[in-house]
Amino acid sequence: MATGILGGTFNPVHMGHLRVAEEIREAFDLETVYFIPAFIPPHKDAGEASPPEERLRMLRAATRGSGFFKVSDLEIKRGGISYTIDTLKRFKLRFDDLYFIIGADAFRLIGTWHRYEELFSHAHFIVMTRPAFGTVDIPDMLPARVRGKLAPFNDAERKGVYIHESGKKIYLYRVTQLDISSTKVRNLLSEGRSVRYLVPPPVERIIIQRRLYRS
Ligand code: ATP
Ligand code: MG
Repeated sequence: MATGILGGTFNPVHMGHLRVAEEIREAFDLETVYFIPAFIPPHKDAGEASPPEERLRMLRAATRGSGFFKVSDLEIKRGGISYTIDTLKRFKLRFDDLYFIIGADAFRLIGTWHRYEELFSHAHFIVMTRPAFGTVDIPDMLPARVRGKLAPFNDAERKGVYIHESGKKIYLYRVTQLDISSTKVRNLLSEGRSVRYLVPPPVERIIIQRRLYRS
């Protein structure tokens, strides 16, 4: 069965993450989606993120009760800067049909990722649309070195599918456009404002109890 991976900082996890993961799970018939919080995200100011244990705790609370979502502490346990290439290689040892799920905002920057060219040999990619990041075609979002290794793939059910020379595919998938981000949640909290209905109730409780994201 197919397995999904959703990497991120999850600082904190919000309804946007959960809903798009659910839509993709259903559309691609994924048996499990692993949410994997980064220990140190390579592209973010590490000082800004809540401690990894808090982000993990909120993710566990958010996904409890779902039969399809799991949380992996692989990157947190590994420590150091969290590189997706290392994570995909580890997951490949256990799962043979891997789908890496990523928002268009992050995908457009993939040319800056560690050993990015190799990523496309280890997993299929599902690129999710995201508000404010006008999505173009998959090849237009990629550096020339990857673009040259792609060909359009004729999929009976889907449009906008490409195949990499490794045989792995890249899908563009239109999810419900939820203009929610962790940045927005953090900003509201730092102003003392409500984040109810932007994050799941157990996450809101943890944020309040542990006084996270207060300025
Ligand atoms: P921040 O504002 O701190 O960057 P974020 O909301 O973007 O937080 P991340 O942890 O950076 O959350 O996101 C993890 C992954 O989920 C990324 O691939 C991102 O593009 C995707 N993602 C997050 N929120 C949404 C959303 N509302 N719709 C679609 N994709 C999303
Ligand atoms: Mg982000």
